[in-house]
Amino acid sequence: MPERTCIGCRSRAPADTLVRIAWSPTGGRLVTGPGHSGRGAWLCPDAECLDLAMQRDAVGRALRVGVPAAAAAELVAGWASTVAAAGPLPGG
Ligand SMILES: [Zn+2]
Repeated sequence: MPERTCIGCRSRAPADTLVRIAWSPTGGRLVTGPGHSGRGAWLCPDAECLDLAMQRDAVGRALRVGVPAAAAAELVAGWASTVAAAGPLPGG
């Protein structure tokens, strides 16, 4: 499994332990999980990492899009369920 860098805490981890975030141009929103094409940003399933990424606008920079505030807010609002859907981490 390739490693990816979390855009929040900048630590490296196997891709299957991170949440993939992509931009949906058609929906005009950020989407999470596998199966979305285009550039991806990776985050630990951790509210702290999402906070760090939001403070630095790291999602928009990683995806090379200008993320509308509403789309960012939607990602934040749905993060808890996104993390729950990602399932328990290996060994955790
Ligand atoms: Zn992280």
